[in-house]
Amino acid sequence: MLRARDLAIVKVGLVTYTPEKVAGFDLQVYYVKSADGQAHPAVAGMQNDVTCFCDAKAIRDDPSIVAISKNGPALRKNRRFNLPFDFVCPTNPEYRKKVLNYIEDLGREKIQGLTLNLYHFPEEEFCVCPRCVELWRQSGLNWTQWRAQVVTKFVADAKKVAKGEFAVEMFPDPVLAKERFGIDFEKIADLVDYFHVPLSSRDYLTNYWVDLLARDFVKILKKPVVLELSAEMVTEEKAEALLKTVAYVSRHDLKAVLLLVHDSENAREICRYAVKNAEFRDWLRKNEFVEMSQIVDDWAKSY
Ligand SMILES: [Zn+2]
Repeated sequence: MLRARDLAIVKVGLVTYTPEKVAGFDLQVYYVKSADGQAHPAVAGMQNDVTCFCDAKAIRDDPSIVAISKNGPALRKNRRFNLPFDFVCPTNPEYRKKVLNYIEDLGREKIQGLTLNLYHFPEEEFCVCPRCVELWRQSGLNWTQWRAQVVTKFVADAKKVAKGEFAVEMFPDPVLAKERFGIDFEKIADLVDYFHVPLSSRDYLTNYWVDLLARDFVKILKKPVVLELSAEMVTEEKAEALLKTVAYVSRHDLKAVLLLVHDSENAREICRYAVKNAEFRDWLRKNEFVEMSQIVDDWAKSY
């Protein structure tokens, strides 16, 4: 008997810094605006991913826009925190408007859709700039509620001007996302078509945590989930570990598994490696990874 799950084959997609579609991948995400502040023109036919409040260039140009805590600014060089990027205060009206205008402009091209990335507070201690403290006081809400309201309002405003499929990325914390970042999964689920969960790593030789977080997010998020894994594998051992991890997570109820690459050639390398690796394809068949086998069979048509 077929389970409902058997009717939908998980898709394999791509996340890339190159504005070029690659054969063999369904959902293709392009980083149109990145955390260093570079903002590129829209790319038609791709899911355009916009980094919202992490913008190293904007902060260099005007240091006063950075998010602030009692332990200093939201900058990578502030070792009181473990921040991967430099964060602009999410209530800065001019910066916020600039990002929303940019999102609206992207919609003038025939894009597949729009994904928001880093659209939230850097950590629980942020932001205590005078404007944020004043807005919080006026709101009458507690700190967590107010910060979640700010983030949800931004997502709602972005949705109003965005075109196509609308999604959000997140820091992959299934438990504390609301307290830490102001990400209210319940409220945001009403606004998005799907959630994009990045689980980046230098390799997947140890992969139990990928399976663990995939289960947690599929269970708690009330919209479809796509999972992103890093796919710039320099050794065969790492490429094989990645492909086996994709095979395991493809058994979860995901909309897609996305492979993060810097350029299109990295993606083609992964496909070629899987297609020519008879031992791996036997392993898939023997262990009944039906979906992953089908994906590699599809790749074999192009690679
Ligand atoms: Zn602030």
